Amino acid sequence: MRRFPRRPTDAGDPAHDACAADRLLTRRLDEALARPAAQQPCWPDPGRVGAVVEQLQQAEPIVAPEETARLADRLASVARGEAFLLQGGDCAETFADNTESHLRANLRVLSQMSAVLTQATGLPVVNIARMAGQYAKPRSNAVDASGLPVYRGDIVNSAEPTPAARTPDPHRMLRAHAHAAEAMDVVRRVGAGGVYVSHEMLLLDYERAGLWADACGPATRLTSGLAHFLWIGERTRQLDGAHIAFAELMSNPIGLKIGPGVTPELAVEYVERLDPDATPGRLTLVSRMGHGRVREVLPPIVEKVNASGHQVVWQCDPMHGNTRVSGNGFKTRHFDQVVDELAGFFEVHRALGTHPGGIHVEVTGEDVTECVGGASGITEHELPTRYRTACDPRLNAEQSVELALAVATMLAGRRADVQEGP
Ligand code: PEP
Ligand code: MN
Repeated sequence: MRRFPRRPTDAGDPAHDACAADRLLTRRLDEALARPAAQQPCWPDPGRVGAVVEQLQQAEPIVAPEETARLADRLASVARGEAFLLQGGDCAETFADNTESHLRANLRVLSQMSAVLTQATGLPVVNIARMAGQYAKPRSNAVDASGLPVYRGDIVNSAEPTPAARTPDPHRMLRAHAHAAEAMDVVRRVGAGGVYVSHEMLLLDYERAGLWADACGPATRLTSGLAHFLWIGERTRQLDGAHIAFAELMSNPIGLKIGPGVTPELAVEYVERLDPDATPGRLTLVSRMGHGRVREVLPPIVEKVNASGHQVVWQCDPMHGNTRVSGNGFKTRHFDQVVDELAGFFEVHRALGTHPGGIHVEVTGEDVTECVGGASGITEHELPTRYRTACDPRLNAEQSVELALAVATMLAGRRADVQEGP
């Protein structure tokens, strides 16, 4: 792996082929980044962005390419139905919460969920944390209720409601990188090589600064040194947009969120663009349909993608289609609706005979009160007591394990079916 683009001091490098490959990749990357990019901040001083990007390009990578390659292999086994994928963590990481105790608590809850799912599925579980870089947030509105520029995550601006704090500051990308490196140290110590890291591939000035040339495959591609797994969000998946074109150049495994507006035909277009070589597990389709829609919208998508011959990972995000505002004004999710979307997802795959490959959840090991319901019966009235998220409501430690147990119950029925035969 080598830096991309090459630094001027590398110009005398005798590897001329690599230089030609770099020129081609540079052109394709420039073309990708020239496309319309949704959800980018309006930096007040573009000159400073260039300087930050140059600095980031000198930074050490956060993840190693061998680790990313290992994850790609493991996701291939998920796509083949031989493993299960658990992905989870904060909706938005913050600089202030990038503490050893917070990271450890989130890793602990993921490992507890993973243990339950290993037992339930009888399959190895692949663990991916939303961690070490999940600092950028897509937002529905550019301004908040008081008319200030909206908070876009700690990598862009501050949540503090003042005009100065909300002004996008590119220097924050350097802080984000340093925090991500620190978080990755904790992941390596606590996760002992069994936990991969991921974030939404949203802020393209940051993502483009973390690219390395990967010459392992038949053609040179780009690999992110910023995370093992990157996903494209529901708001940035425009077919002619920059995010999809950027992801096409990368060798990392890629996720794509698909909401209820995605038709089966569109799903196949995505699959053909993002998995052109039909590599099992290269693409994870993350359905987030809402509990009321999943049973109706997902089946034709799964059927059509399956018929295309691509082996994707089918993953359910039961959080983002079930967000609502409580009577007392908190963005929340009801535990029962989250469980119901998962139930729908497992029902759909069971009916079609396809592998429900995994789940993608917003969870924390902290004892927060952000989602209502669950065994402890958190009510709307209790939400303000420990509502701490920087963006979307997370399941707390107890609700997270309860969710894993609910999945175990759903899968128990499925395994009994498989063992007994028709
Ligand atoms: C998220 O995962 O935090 C998110 C914003 O999801 P989506 O793009 O599916 O809305
Ligand atoms: Mn979220």
